[in-house]
Amino acid sequence: MAIHYLSTRSEGEGITASQAILQGLSKDGGLFVPDHIPTLDVSLEELSKMSYQETAYEVMKLYLTDFTKEELQNCIEKAYDKKFDTEEIAPLTYAEDAYYLELFHGATIAFKDMALSILPHLLTTAARKNQIKEEIVILTATSGDTGKAALAGFAGVEGTKIVVFYPKNGVSPIQEKQMVTQVGDNTYVVGIHGNFDDAQTGVKKIFNDAAFAEEMKQAGYRFSSANSINIGRLVPQIVYYVYSYAKLLGEEKIKAGEKVNVVVPTGNFGNILAAHYAKEMGVPIDRLVCASNENKVLFDFFQSGTYDRNREFMLTSSPSMDILISSNLERLLYEVAGRDAKLCASLMSDLQTKGSYVITDEMKKNMADFFGGYASEEETAAEIKRVYESCGYVLDTHTAVASSVCQDFRKKTGNTNPCIIASTASPFKFTRSVMTAIDSKYDSWSDFDLVDELSKIGNVEVPKAIEEIRNAKVVHDHVCEKEEMVNQIKAFLNLK
Ligand SMILES: *Cc1c(COP(=O)(O)O)cnc(C)c1O
Repeated sequence: MAIHYLSTRSEGEGITASQAILQGLSKDGGLFVPDHIPTLDVSLEELSKMSYQETAYEVMKLYLTDFTKEELQNCIEKAYDKKFDTEEIAPLTYAEDAYYLELFHGATIAFKDMALSILPHLLTTAARKNQIKEEIVILTATSGDTGKAALAGFAGVEGTKIVVFYPKNGVSPIQEKQMVTQVGDNTYVVGIHGNFDDAQTGVKKIFNDAAFAEEMKQAGYRFSSANSINIGRLVPQIVYYVYSYAKLLGEEKIKAGEKVNVVVPTGNFGNILAAHYAKEMGVPIDRLVCASNENKVLFDFFQSGTYDRNREFMLTSSPSMDILISSNLERLLYEVAGRDAKLCASLMSDLQTKGSYVITDEMKKNMADFFGGYASEEETAAEIKRVYESCGYVLDTHTAVASSVCQDFRKKTGNTNPCIIASTASPFKFTRSVMTAIDSKYDSWSDFDLVDELSKIGNVEVPKAIEEIRNAKVVHDHVCEKEEMVNQIKAFLNLK
C-alpha cells in the first residue's frame, strides 16, 4: 500500500516519500511522518536468513513506496558496500550480559554512517524522480558525528553540495579533525561560536527563510537537509533493529516471539524513534530504554510529562548527545496524541515561546513502553571501566551511557528480557575519555599514543577512519558567529 507523508503540524493530503526526502522539513515547520506505520510482510524467521542488504530492502520498500525495486536496491548496494569494514554491516557482540549492536563499522566509525551512507543516493534518486533541475545543497548542523558522516556520504556525489556547521568548542578533537580534513570541492565546513542548539536553530531558520530560498533558486540551487529530521535518515535506521532481532533468532539466542528490550543512547531522538517504528512494524520489542547523559531533558520528560529545555547546557564526554531540543520527539508526540496535528503544533509553539510544554495524561499513557534513564559523567566513566575489566570489551562514551542506564533499568524494573544496546560509536572516536576512564595515568598521553594503546589493550585494530586523519591536512578553517551563518553559505556558493 502506498504511503504518504504528512506534517506533524498541519492536516493535509500528504506527499510521496521521494518528495518528503527532497523537502526535509515541512513548510509549516513540522516533521514528515508516514500516514501509517506499515507491518513487515515477511516473517522474522525468513528475515533471519537474509543479509543486511536484503533486510534493508524488505524494510525500506514498505516506507519508500514510490521508489521502484531497482531504484531502491541500487541505493542499498551503493551504500552498504566495502565502506563498511565488516560484511555483516551491523554485527552484534555479546559482552557482560547484553548484546551490543555495533553501528560503527562505516566510514566515520559512528552510527550516523548507517543512514548517511544511503541518504545521498536516496536524495539524488528522489531528485531524478521529481524532475528537479537545481543542484541540491545539503545544510547540516552537527554535534560532531552527523557532520563527518554527511560529508563522507556526500563528498563527490554529483549534483550535490554540502555545508556543515559545528560548535567550535563543542566536539571532540578527533571529531573536529575528521571534519576539517574532509576533501571534495562540493564540501564546506564552518565552526560557529555557540553550542549545537545554536547551530541547529540557525540551520532551521535558514530553511524557513523564503526570501533566501528564492535567491538560491535564481542561482540554480535548492536546500535539503541531512539532519535526522529527514525521513530519508530515519527509515534506514529502522533496518538494523529488524536485522538484529532476526539475527538473534537465526542464531537461536532467542526463541520466536521472545521479547527483547532496546537501549539507545539518545540525543535528537532519531535512533530510538527508529526502534519504536521497528516495534510497531512487528518486531517483539518490550521496553524502549531512552538513555541520556547529564543533559537529561528526556529523562525528566518521561518522568513528569513536562519537556523543559530551560536549564544549563552541559558539555559532557558524550558530545553527540549534548542536546536540549530533541527534534525527533515531535514525531512520537504526534503519534501518541492520536495523530492530532493541532495539538502537536501547539506543543511545539509552547516550546518555541516558553521553552517548555506539558503533554496530556493520555499521551503519557500511550508511551508507557518508553523508559527514561540517565548516566552522570562519573557513572559513564565507571561503566567503561567495569565492562572493560570484566571482559576486555571497550565501550565508547555514548554506548557507556546506554550501558549504565541498562543496568539501572534492570535494577529498577526487574525486567529480565535480553537487552540490545545500540552501540553508536567506536571507542577510537572518543579515545581520550575512554582511556582515562579505564586508567587516570593516560591523562598526560597524546591523542595518537592513546589510539595505539587502545588498540593494544582492547585487542582491536585501529580503524581506517582514524589512520586516515593521522597525517591529513586541514582544508577547512572557517569560523563564524551564529548570526553570520547565511553569509558563510553565500560565500561558498558565490552568491552576493
Ligand atoms: C548522534 C549520536 C547519538 C544520538 O542519536 P540520536 O538519533 O540523535 O538520538 C548517540 N551516539 C552517537 C555516537 C551519535 O553520533
